[in-house]
Amino acid sequence: MNGANTANEYVYDANGNLNKNITDIQYNFLNLPSQITFDDGSTIVYLYSADGTKLRTMHNINGTVTKTDYCGNVIYENDTATQLLTEAGYVSLNDNQYHYYLQDHQGNNRMVVDKNGTPEETNNYYPFGGVFASTGNIQPYKYNGKELDNKKGLNWYDYGARHYDAALRRFMTIDPMVEKYYNVAPYAYVGNNPIKLIDPDGKDWRIATEYNQVKHKIEYKITVNAVLYNNSDNANINMEKLSAAIQQQVNDTYNISGKDFEVKMNFNLRIASSVDEIGDNDHVFQVVNQADLGKSPNGIVQGKASTPGLNIKLGDIAVNNLLSGEDKRTAAHELGHTGGLHDLREDKYADNLMMQSYLIDRFGKDNNKSTKLDRNQIETIRDNYINNKLNQNSPKRSEWFRKYLVK
Ligand SMILES: [Zn+2]
Repeated sequence: MNGANTANEYVYDANGNLNKNITDIQYNFLNLPSQITFDDGSTIVYLYSADGTKLRTMHNINGTVTKTDYCGNVIYENDTATQLLTEAGYVSLNDNQYHYYLQDHQGNNRMVVDKNGTPEETNNYYPFGGVFASTGNIQPYKYNGKELDNKKGLNWYDYGARHYDAALRRFMTIDPMVEKYYNVAPYAYVGNNPIKLIDPDGKDWRIATEYNQVKHKIEYKITVNAVLYNNSDNANINMEKLSAAIQQQVNDTYNISGKDFEVKMNFNLRIASSVDEIGDNDHVFQVVNQADLGKSPNGIVQGKASTPGLNIKLGDIAVNNLLSGEDKRTAAHELGHTGGLHDLREDKYADNLMMQSYLIDRFGKDNNKSTKLDRNQIETIRDNYINNKLNQNSPKRSEWFRKYLVK
């Protein structure tokens, strides 16, 4: 790999960007590609907003110009709105027809069907995302649901922060979090292990879906790195003991096994003694004064969390019950909210972790036995990870947190 034979080889520039030397790739100051030039003079020009969101792609391929504009979830081609992207697929705007993605357990679009369920496109992928067999090609969102540009044989997926080359199995720029994964080559896609891990936004990964061929089970491997912080007036809480109790509770509730699936939780909770030790992407469990949780007409509020989000508050009552071993669900329940799970209220869910506490009493059940999570809930959290809905709203960035800092 020395750049001598530029038609076939790949070289890195001084900033670590990969140049597929058809003739040239230029990168902007965000290290995103701004222009690709092919040896016959064809070009692809990209336009981004200041935060790196792609706004426009201009293909000039063999003299044919195609302008694609990305305006929220509407896509324009040559100034005509062509696609409205939805949670489940898209609407083709020339005929107002719905198209639905059928995804596999990795979030790959394996099939596109029309409203009657008739297949319009099928895709089969190599483990690293190359398409090895397909029928139809009516839309560009493929592997991990990401946009594939295969014009001029480019075969790049757009992961937002970075572009991924399925043939090279490499991202085209250095991983923005490279210092976190110093033991993995900086261009590697999810540690060279695509079956196990999904890189939802090119920045980080927090959930893995794996098929265990020995056990014939799908395994969901969740990683949550959280911080425990005492933001209350009570300085005498045994934080080590509280941390151990929360970890025990989360491990007891999120490590579950079913007939054809298993969930493995890798939950890391460290204690922060000052806000400076809390990162912007940390889940924060913070102990607050009971009075700060407010009142509910339904009874005592033990904890609160943002759904989905990074912020969990536990009051004195929950903390005391966690420390004495009497509470088996509050911290795990609030963690579920940060994964995007909502409260359940119907009696058929009375033994579920996300059932509202006061209703468990009302249905005559035992609060400490209402700790079950089902596979649909795990898949909801997984899908939220893939769709970049989690890890939002750090309490560090909200007014709410600062209010408690000033005492
Ligand atoms: Zn709740």
